[in-house]
Amino acid sequence: MSYSYVSHLYCPKCESVYNVKDVHQLCTCGSPLLVNYHLDELRRKLHPSDLLERDSTIWRYHELLPVEEQKHVVSLGEGMTPFIPMPKLGKDMSISNLYMKDEGIIPTGTFKARGAAVGVSKAKELGIQELAMPTNGNAGAAWALYAARAGIRTTVVMPVDAPMITRNECAISGSNLYLVNGLISDAGKIVGQAVRDYELFDASTLKEPYRIEGKKTMGLEIAEQMGWKMPDVILYPTGGGVGIIGIYKALTELQTLGWVQGPLPRLVAVQAAGCAPIVKAWEEEKTESEFWANSSTIAFGINVPKALGDFLVLDAIYKTNGCAIAIDDTSILVEQQKVAVLEGSFICPEGASTFVAARRLRESGWIKEGETVVALNTGLGIKYPDTVRVEVPLLQPEECIQRGLMV
Ligand SMILES: *Cc1c(COP(=O)(O)O)cnc(C)c1O
Ligand SMILES: [Zn+2]
Repeated sequence: MSYSYVSHLYCPKCESVYNVKDVHQLCTCGSPLLVNYHLDELRRKLHPSDLLERDSTIWRYHELLPVEEQKHVVSLGEGMTPFIPMPKLGKDMSISNLYMKDEGIIPTGTFKARGAAVGVSKAKELGIQELAMPTNGNAGAAWALYAARAGIRTTVVMPVDAPMITRNECAISGSNLYLVNGLISDAGKIVGQAVRDYELFDASTLKEPYRIEGKKTMGLEIAEQMGWKMPDVILYPTGGGVGIIGIYKALTELQTLGWVQGPLPRLVAVQAAGCAPIVKAWEEEKTESEFWANSSTIAFGINVPKALGDFLVLDAIYKTNGCAIAIDDTSILVEQQKVAVLEGSFICPEGASTFVAARRLRESGWIKEGETVVALNTGLGIKYPDTVRVEVPLLQPEECIQRGLMV
């Protein structure tokens, strides 16, 4: 059996086909490229029970990943993150079957590790020695660290406002890091120029086909952790949209393999009220989004004013009868605290937005009584220490010893 059942790359817009052995970025028509697999052949050769004895990493699904030889795999042990019931929070929002897929428990502290592990491994397999990318922080951090492990040089450009920790993750791994006084779209333009001037490999979101294959493993894991049953609803904090596109791709591949039955879960793209281009497009029943001017939100990972794969995100929502919903920053911070108080989990603002969305959709009746709901927490709360604004009393030691604590 081959390590990978990858067959070719294809364009979801114009249907052109490309060889997976060559280095590719976008299709000549400007669309991102997607990876295709020999699923009919794999359907006969691989069964869910074959996975039981494999490692608890994303590489347990190596047949459904694009890296052709195991020796090119660059891994820090990513994957099989916790799938946790949230009974108290669920009760608080009248959702009796609420689960969190917790992507905080992964190298680099966000699910970006999945995209980086597969993207960097494939870059190594293709012989790429240097890559460049713009980032809102977490992706740059993950790619810089995985590339360091692979011996690939990186140039990363990020907004000066991006979380300080992600800046440090890039810097400490020896990446060629630049800050820009602007948004990720500005960083993208600078990287675009550098890629043309120095002939670098462009690892920008969806400008290479393999990051999405890594993020797809979130969908594979949710299905496996639920015993190959599907939930009714999956909520995902959507910026560039790679995660939601990936989850949709994973679930359709599992359907083709015959590993899951029934309708796909309704996919919900959750965005910040200060940057909601996908929500606006969905409300207007459009198939593409428009650039969102002056975007701003504390949920930095979803501050993406125009996503290259917007049409794929909208397609995944329409095909699964899902929806898109925008959440304001204040509600995100309230929910972030609620999750910590009720369930003991310090999640990131992006993740908190999905719980607010679940709450609102249950209130409106869009989520029905008894439905199984999975919310994605895409990263660790401790990567964003500045979002916590809880007052803490300052004590003078002598005073306390004399008077005792006022509990
Ligand atoms: C990047 C990021 C997102 C958005 O992910 P996409 O797949 O690009 O939509 C959400 N949350 C966090 C913490 C992120 O870093
Ligand atoms: Zn095309």
